[in-house]
Amino acid sequence: MTDFQATKALFALPEGVTYLDGNSLGPLPKAAPDRTARAMTGEWGEMLITGWNRAGWMDQPAKLGDRIGRLIGAPEGTTVLGDTLSIKVHQALAAALALRPERRVILSDSGNFPSDLYMAQGLIEQLGRGHELRVVAPEEVEAAIDDDVAVMMITEVDYRTGRRHDMPALIAKAHEVGALAIWDLAHSAGAVDVDVAAADTDFAVGCTYKFLNGGPGAPAFIHVAPRLIDEVQPALSGWLGHAEPFAFEPGYRPGPAIARMRVGTPPVLAMAALDAALDIWDRVDIGDLRAASLALSDRFIAGVKAACPGLELATPRAHAQRGSQVSFRHPQGYAVMQALIAQGVIGDFRAPDILRFGITPLYLDEADIDRAVEVLATILRKGSWDRPEFHARAAVT
Ligand SMILES: *Cc1c(COP(=O)(O)O)cnc(C)c1O
Repeated sequence: MTDFQATKALFALPEGVTYLDGNSLGPLPKAAPDRTARAMTGEWGEMLITGWNRAGWMDQPAKLGDRIGRLIGAPEGTTVLGDTLSIKVHQALAAALALRPERRVILSDSGNFPSDLYMAQGLIEQLGRGHELRVVAPEEVEAAIDDDVAVMMITEVDYRTGRRHDMPALIAKAHEVGALAIWDLAHSAGAVDVDVAAADTDFAVGCTYKFLNGGPGAPAFIHVAPRLIDEVQPALSGWLGHAEPFAFEPGYRPGPAIARMRVGTPPVLAMAALDAALDIWDRVDIGDLRAASLALSDRFIAGVKAACPGLELATPRAHAQRGSQVSFRHPQGYAVMQALIAQGVIGDFRAPDILRFGITPLYLDEADIDRAVEVLATILRKGSWDRPEFHARAAVT
């Protein structure tokens, strides 16, 4: 059994804070400052350019990729790190469209994160071949899969509502009609019991700064199914995805397997912090994590239902249909969230009316959930959110 009291002790959470926003930015692992300091002074400072070989910087994207692979059910050698998630979405989508040249439809849903949709729109413009982005309601994805679809690009867990798709079923249906599947795991990796190999996805992408706690700007990951990887032609054909980067050939040749999805120089300092975060994940069984997440979420939902009559649950109740966050609607959600944050209970707000709470058993326990419910109930009962300072919008909500 995973010892979640022990994992909680490995995070540096400020006194008096109940952190329910690990779905947006995970907290600092206590080991990360030393690890990054070592990478800076011991490696960069002492080794200079030789750090690429001596400190193994060049191998980090594949090594850390494999450690993330374990958390998402990906076999070794099929996941690599680099760039941001938006870039990884672009890479996966460009590769998938090239594998289905006779088809023109990208299928996604209105619960997808805007950046994924924007990347698709930009790529369609750039290709100029008449592709169409077909966006349907989350409940209608399955019915919209037909043999015009080149690729289904879906984020497994909806960033606003926390609704979870039945990805294995959707992928099976996509494959039946000859479409490919891209699975965005931004709110799945380190959050739910995702298994990319069992679900037989073609591509999976995700970020490492949310539930995985890699730190702001930590690099993203991409996984390609082993049966496809040797066919994939990288659209972002950078030198570090080349078969022999240090041969400095004028022509591009894709590197072996997943290495071809690398683009340019990896963010070595950011990877040092992520490495420290992944040490914590080595202690975690994903089945235990999922069970604990559902138990804490149920406790939160029941507590809010009993104490906060003004809030409407936006997250599905059925376990199979939710990820690891709980969302509520309130017409003044932004101000309510600011009032909560002022009391040290940190969640976030997503327009137009969603209060979001990430449920992260790695560092949240029942007492944290109960405190969050109590503070939220008091704010709503007293109406103390209705002050000018709580209505003023910041740039990041
Ligand atoms: C968080 C998130 C992103 C963010 O992309 P970045 O390039 O890392 O800023 C993209 N897609 C989804 C589904 C997300 O949840």
